[in-house]
Amino acid sequence: MQILWFRNDLRVHDNPALHHFLMHYQSGDRAIYLLTPAQWHQHHWSRIKIDLIKRHVALVSKQLNELGVQLEVYHVDDFEQQVEFIINENEQGSAIHFIANEELEVNERQRDEKLKSKGVTLTLFEADVIVSKGKVLNQAGEMFKVFTPFKRAWLRHVKNDGVEYLGKPGKRTTAIEINDEPVNHANNDVLQGDNSSSQWPLIDEVEAHTIPAFFANKHDQYHEFRDIPSIKGTSGLSPYLAIGALSPRYLLQLILNKHPDLLTAHDSPAFSWLNELIWRDFYRHLLHHFPKLCRHKMFNDKYANITWPYDKAKFDAWCLGQTGYPIVDAAMRQLNQTGWMHNRLRMVVASFLTKHLLIDWRLGEQYFMSKLIDGDLAANNGGWQWAASTGCDAQPYFRIFNPIRQGERFDPKGEFVRKYLPELDKVPDKHVHFPHSYMKSHSDIAYWPAIVDHKAAREQALAFYR
Ligand code: FAD
Repeated sequence: MQILWFRNDLRVHDNPALHHFLMHYQSGDRAIYLLTPAQWHQHHWSRIKIDLIKRHVALVSKQLNELGVQLEVYHVDDFEQQVEFIINENEQGSAIHFIANEELEVNERQRDEKLKSKGVTLTLFEADVIVSKGKVLNQAGEMFKVFTPFKRAWLRHVKNDGVEYLGKPGKRTTAIEINDEPVNHANNDVLQGDNSSSQWPLIDEVEAHTIPAFFANKHDQYHEFRDIPSIKGTSGLSPYLAIGALSPRYLLQLILNKHPDLLTAHDSPAFSWLNELIWRDFYRHLLHHFPKLCRHKMFNDKYANITWPYDKAKFDAWCLGQTGYPIVDAAMRQLNQTGWMHNRLRMVVASFLTKHLLIDWRLGEQYFMSKLIDGDLAANNGGWQWAASTGCDAQPYFRIFNPIRQGERFDPKGEFVRKYLPELDKVPDKHVHFPHSYMKSHSDIAYWPAIVDHKAAREQALAFYR
């Protein structure tokens, strides 16, 4: 008997574990999803992400229904209880074969190892990357520590070996009467995140509308607009990739359908978007090879003993968007209000926290995780360690974003900052990214004083890192 165990792979489209399960399906086989709210809390998952998960569990249940498979949902709190649950299920029958897609992070890997050591037959597939982890190595057989050679080897691999894409499973010919809704053994409250993700459509709609529109209208201009936060110039697909509702291999298929020669045209503008998907793979491969990244360790051991000073008032001001630097404050309010933040701004606010305020990047990483709808350990850790200069192929420590200049460059008319900081509505464009001297002669404008002086903070950061 097979039990298909859905985890961070909430999709039927291009799902290798489901594909295997359906190929070997026999009557009596089951599909399960185990809610682990206490574990999610421990991992600082945001409520909006949990809400998106909840909605996709329901969608997967409907889609499985069309395949004649009933999804059963259970509440088991954390990974320890997941282990007990699976062992208990295993003892209920003989020769039970559990099928799942692997999860990358260290607690998840330990849980699976534990199950195997207790005699559970668990077959794992890989669904979260385009190229398999462990398949892109340097000549010494090791993981690359610089992105560009990784990318070249990655492209070579895709070109030479191809990427297996399984597509959508076909409908079953013999109809089976089962429920659309999951068989819910969980307390419904557990499924509820009180931060609604309803602004984000479900993946079936995204695949039917958002993705085709992105390829028709935005993909080729991505390199021009990707850094402008007032424009929707990026795909907005990260929440779906983060919960496994969307297959990165499907995205590769779509890119290559549009630009069949792109694998060898890495200088072309159309390559920029694929480049980001390769960064995504890069950070996941890193986490696979360096599990210490899941344990709050610096990638670069040189920085292992840094003690960042901590100033609660400054950290709180950063979290709340009250630093007096409009691009930072608007970005943090975007995060707090919507659960998402534009990539350029993630880099700016992370640099500001770690360099201007000299606050430990791990606090920023955790805060992001607790707010982001697309919170993903690999990309989040990669991004934070890049900004803090402690990471793999990171920003050198002496490159410190000037938040005023970043605002002027990427939001020249102040459209983005005014959207989230209406108090700056009346400030002219040329002052909007640092309104403090203008405010001296305009007492009707109320905005937070600058928490630090840019020049002095920069000097301090250089000395600190040096
Ligand atoms: P697009 O620009 O359309 O890119 C397509 C996809 O490529 C994204 O959906 C994402 O899956 C991937 N991608 C894009 N940029 C990156 C990148 N720099 N690193 C890794 N993958 C990337 N991304 C997350 O998915 N989850 C996170 O928790 C996360 N935290 C971040 C923290 C910091 C400090 C920084 C600097 C970046 C972080 N990123 C994270 C990466 C990036 O900001 C988001 O993936 C991107 O903004 C999502 O928007 P999009 O889907 O429109 O991206």
